[in-house]
Amino acid sequence: TEQTLVLVKPDGVARGLTGAILARIEAKGYALVDLRLVEPDRARLEQHYAEHAGKPFYEPLLDFMMSGPSVAIRLAGNRVIEGFRSLAGTTDPTTAAPGTIRGDFGRDWGLAVQQNLVHGSDSPESAARELSIWFA
Ligand code: ATP
Repeated sequence: TEQTLVLVKPDGVARGLTGAILARIEAKGYALVDLRLVEPDRARLEQHYAEHAGKPFYEPLLDFMMSGPSVAIRLAGNRVIEGFRSLAGTTDPTTAAPGTIRGDFGRDWGLAVQQNLVHGSDSPESAARELSIWFA
């Protein structure tokens, strides 16, 4: 069975939405394999977000991700990578569909980075790479 990395990002933790987000994941029937509160340093985030280095939102993204703890989750289930991304909704929380985590709980705060509550790996290769970064 497949595994993915899910993060409840600092905005989700700070807003007290961890429980609501976990409830949706559990209601969907995915299995929590491991879960921890993490305050990542810059080096860990540079690894995680290597593909975005140099983009305009890169530095704001790293600052945001260092602004408080995230909840890292090792999640398992059939097609969980695709399934969690469907639960999360599209990247921009303003237009993410209602019924998704980002669509129901997120909006644009007018900041330099999209504070969109969660992260989910986008492929089996990303999942393996990201799980090794957050559950080293
Ligand atoms: P994630 O990988 O976190 O699940 P995603 O795949 O929807 O999200 P990516 O394109 O990988 O989005 O971007 C990573 C993160 O960078 C986004 O979740 C968001 O926080 C931020 N981000 C992406 N694009 C923009 C943008 N155009 N402006 C501001 N922030 C952005």
